[in-house]
Amino acid sequence: ITGTDMTTTGECGNCSEQSCSAKDKRPGEADRDYLDRQQLARRMCRIRHKIIVLSGKGGVGKSTVAVSIAVSLSALGHRVGLLDIDIHGPSVPRLLGLEGRQVAGNGTALLPVSFSENLKVMSTGFMLRARNDAVIWRGPMKYSAIKQFLRDVEWGDLDYLVIDAPPGTGDEPLSVCQLLENAGGAVVVTTPQELALLDVRKSISFCKQLGVQVLGVVENMSGFVCPKCGEVTHVFKSGGAESMSNEMGVPFLGRIPIDPDLVVACDAGAVFDYFRSGDGIVESFRQIIGPVMAKEEKERRRERSGSEESVQRRNGDMRIAIPVAGGKLSPHFGHCEEFVLVDVDIDDKSIAAKTTLAAPEHQPGLLPRWLAERGATAIIAGGMGMRAQNLFAEQGIVVVVGAPAGDPETIVKEYLAGTLQTGDNICDH
Ligand code: ADP
Repeated sequence: ITGTDMTTTGECGNCSEQSCSAKDKRPGEADRDYLDRQQLARRMCRIRHKIIVLSGKGGVGKSTVAVSIAVSLSALGHRVGLLDIDIHGPSVPRLLGLEGRQVAGNGTALLPVSFSENLKVMSTGFMLRARNDAVIWRGPMKYSAIKQFLRDVEWGDLDYLVIDAPPGTGDEPLSVCQLLENAGGAVVVTTPQELALLDVRKSISFCKQLGVQVLGVVENMSGFVCPKCGEVTHVFKSGGAESMSNEMGVPFLGRIPIDPDLVVACDAGAVFDYFRSGDGIVESFRQIIGPVMAKEEKERRRERSGSEESVQRRNGDMRIAIPVAGGKLSPHFGHCEEFVLVDVDIDDKSIAAKTTLAAPEHQPGLLPRWLAERGATAIIAGGMGMRAQNLFAEQGIVVVVGAPAGDPETIVKEYLAGTLQTGDNICDH
């Protein structure tokens, strides 16, 4: 499975992709297994990027992060599938208010639930007869169930498939990684407690052993933001995931605090609205998306070109726009003096180039298009209203708000290191 586009015919036999592992039958492979593999390849090669969300143990917010990634990507106009294969604890139906939904099939394929215009969802939870049903499956059954999900769900063409994998490093996550043949990248979710960090080290080693690229580590439930004064209390130790990521040589994507409103939204099945609202700690979730997208895109370019060199010839993997006044980030992005465009290399988090452009004359709704035309893939701002955020999203530009009024290069470096401290989205427009 190569993750590249299919030919127009949609048939493996006519596909020109030479490197596809399903092109030839393996020595000693049964016909049935070969057909299975081809069918899986046919589905998977219509999906540009696969993001596997893993955790060392349960209850750390893996599904919540998976949903937030899927919602953020779909808000940017990407066609997204969210696949929940947590056999023993599927939570996606609950988080999205889809409990009780039945899976439709057309004889040869399972049809995902269309949640919004460009977000489709499939979950093992849709297969359970009742909410409290326990699933007692042995290893080989789990493998074939996961294979069936990957092979038989009719997603059509997708930009991203976000896979909420079962926790740990057991049979199920192993099956996912093996079946995807390393074509995906992993986001690993943990909490600050030592125990979860020990487990997450195993998840990272697991990915490394299987050759799955670690897109980054997220530290969830990292402190509690007081709803009254905004002060962050570190209920558990904080910062451990960042040093562990540095030590293990994998990217750190950021910290997400505990938000009581998110608990309410999860219980009410209203997580989609929560993530689209832009309120509370949504910004912390949203911050992780930019580097994840850039890393996936880079990997794909590398796969296609087959050489590191041609990837490096590009100016960078992300172009981050910062509105600036007096050399510092301007809190009023619509009225700034200039924009600093910073091109970054996502692997070593270095700044490849920096350009400064005078801001265009103020005109409502102009900036998102103006910056998109200049190649911006993300904007880091102080405050920004929801309307402007949506206009940027329509241009496929990731928005990070609540950044402090600092030096643009420092802000970009902190963002890439997952350590940018964002505050309230103060927007008086
Ligand atoms: P996992 O998939 O790791 O088992 P879930 O994503 O299902 O974990 O999250 C477990 C519970 O924790 C959810 O019900 C959700 O309400 C809550 N939760 C997750 N992240 C946060 C957070 N940052 N703030 C508040 N609650 C959270």
